[in-house]
Amino acid sequence: MAMTIVAEECTSCGDCLPVCPMGAVLKKKGTYVIDLDACTECEGEFDMPQCEEVCPVPDCIIPA
Ligand code: SF4
Ligand code: SF4
Repeated sequence: MAMTIVAEECTSCGDCLPVCPMGAVLKKKGTYVIDLDACTECEGEFDMPQCEEVCPVPDCIIPA
């Protein structure tokens, strides 16, 4: 269970990085990716994936 960032939709705003409780959002060469092994979909921490909550682009962060 993990979320993923749709690269074509991502504007690299960076909003998703600081809200992840698992440190699963990574910045790589100016783009943002989610470490699928580290992402828990925020289970046990929050009711909703926090990255998806703060992402300003609809359908940018989706279930992997
Ligand atoms: S769903 Fe939660 S754990 Fe996964 S990357 Fe987003 S904020 Fe981090
Ligand atoms: S919040 Fe959304 S648009 Fe911004 S860097 Fe994260 S995935 Fe990309």
